[in-house]
Amino acid sequence: MKRVYIKTYGCQMNERDSELVAHDLIKNGYELVPKESEADVVLLNTCSVREQAEQKAIGKANNLLSKSRKTKEVKLGILGCMAQNRGSNLNNDLNGVDLIVGTQKFHRVSEYLDEISKNPKYSNQNPLIDLNDEEGSQNTINQHLSTNLNQVSAFVSIMQGCNMNCSFCIVPKTRGKERYRDMDEICNEIIGLRERGVREVTLLGQIVNAYGRGVFPRIDGKSPFVQLLGKIHLIDGIERIRFTSPHPTSFGPDLIEAFGNLPKLGDYTHLPMQSGSDKILKSMNRPYTRERFLKLVSALRTVNSNMRISTDVIVGYPGENEEEFEETISAFKEAAFEMAFIFKYSERSGTPACQFPDKIPQEIKEKRNQILLKILEEQSKASNERLKNRTMNVLVETNARKGRGDLMGRTNCYRKVIFSAGRELIGKIVPVRIDQATSTVLKGSLV
Ligand code: SF4
Repeated sequence: MKRVYIKTYGCQMNERDSELVAHDLIKNGYELVPKESEADVVLLNTCSVREQAEQKAIGKANNLLSKSRKTKEVKLGILGCMAQNRGSNLNNDLNGVDLIVGTQKFHRVSEYLDEISKNPKYSNQNPLIDLNDEEGSQNTINQHLSTNLNQVSAFVSIMQGCNMNCSFCIVPKTRGKERYRDMDEICNEIIGLRERGVREVTLLGQIVNAYGRGVFPRIDGKSPFVQLLGKIHLIDGIERIRFTSPHPTSFGPDLIEAFGNLPKLGDYTHLPMQSGSDKILKSMNRPYTRERFLKLVSALRTVNSNMRISTDVIVGYPGENEEEFEETISAFKEAAFEMAFIFKYSERSGTPACQFPDKIPQEIKEKRNQILLKILEEQSKASNERLKNRTMNVLVETNARKGRGDLMGRTNCYRKVIFSAGRELIGKIVPVRIDQATSTVLKGSLV
């Protein structure tokens, strides 16, 4: 039996894709091992979102190749976004790789590993490379590992690709055009997860709330995405529904209303703002204005006054002057974000923004990053502190990483809560009184 180690870089979508690869490998007689030193095959499922992420994977691959040349022969496969982005050139960057598989071929990895071990035509000087598109490949990301028996929360991929072309983003190149899965198949997958004890699902897509646009009809004013949320909401035993990553322009009135009508959506959403300046938004090719974005935030808070909203912001985008950064600060405060991923713009070759003039010096990016992080910390801490002495319903996920036998769960508004109780509560929703709050975590006691 061949032993395989999979290392995953990047986002939840990559995690989900790796889970599918792992599932197929086990089904076809491979064994998954927790350490690369125990493996006959190492698979790197890669990320291309930043240049750095690619460099990290290339460094890792080179390291594995030099080690495996000295000791036993280990087969090396590069999967996913970097494979798709660099294409067969990757074979030159990494001399000695055995398998290069793109983002529409995860379901073929185990078949290809069989092929390279049987067919003498393939070697580490002549790798098996498949970067082609495959019709229907979005429907293949539908199997979950049965070894995750205590899993409370699961990712469900509902679509692949993105048609948006934001100037800074490589995703349309690595993941291709939008392709959507069938609603009933998604619901059946979720029913299967429910049977295994899953209580919360997070729907995944590069532009998740654009699900089905132009392919599935709107019904009673509802977009296909909102129809899908409605169907999942009817599945007994699934208590919470999350989704990532949405785009503000596909956040229509029907989706805003859903936060009032579908309690399983909870009191939380992610809403990537990227910038508070209209000039920068335009340059990013984000088709909304600051005003429209803030109206959306306010509409969500009108439908649900407990709404907690997180965001993504890029600071130091080409051409961003002090005034435009100030606009981002004021929008960040007005939206009262309580969680955020703040990125210093980093050049990504292959994207339009890479060619833009007026690059911002690193020290200014650093300074802007620190300023926003500080505001974020203040806003998060203040909003978390307001929850002290309140009793909140917490879905218990797992043992806390740190602490003596504490449990970790999440509130309806997706805040992390640590509290002391027995493991038998994992998978249950329990009332917890909040005793302490920092900017990132709440601590409490079981009521
Ligand atoms: S919507 Fe998201 S995935 Fe699509 S191009 Fe823009 S940033 Fe990239």
